[in-house]
Amino acid sequence: MKTRDFLRVLRAAGWSPGKTVGSHTKWRCPGDNHSVPVPDGHRMISPGVIRSVAAKIDDCDCTTDTKDEKGASK
Ligand SMILES: [Zn+2]
Repeated sequence: MKTRDFLRVLRAAGWSPGKTVGSHTKWRCPGDNHSVPVPDGHRMISPGVIRSVAAKIDDCDCTTDTKDEKGASK
């Protein structure tokens, strides 16, 4: 998969890029509770990376609706 396409998927899921460390960029979830390093220094991204990042996205149950913070249970 092309890295650019994969980053588009991340953005669509509400994640945003943060600090870049070496060839990795730390992506943060909409609720800022989860982060995952994405090796975006290459043109293509490996299936193994896609799988682990996808698992992180799946793991994140933070809402993309930042207005709904009044009912936060944490
Ligand atoms: Zn999250």
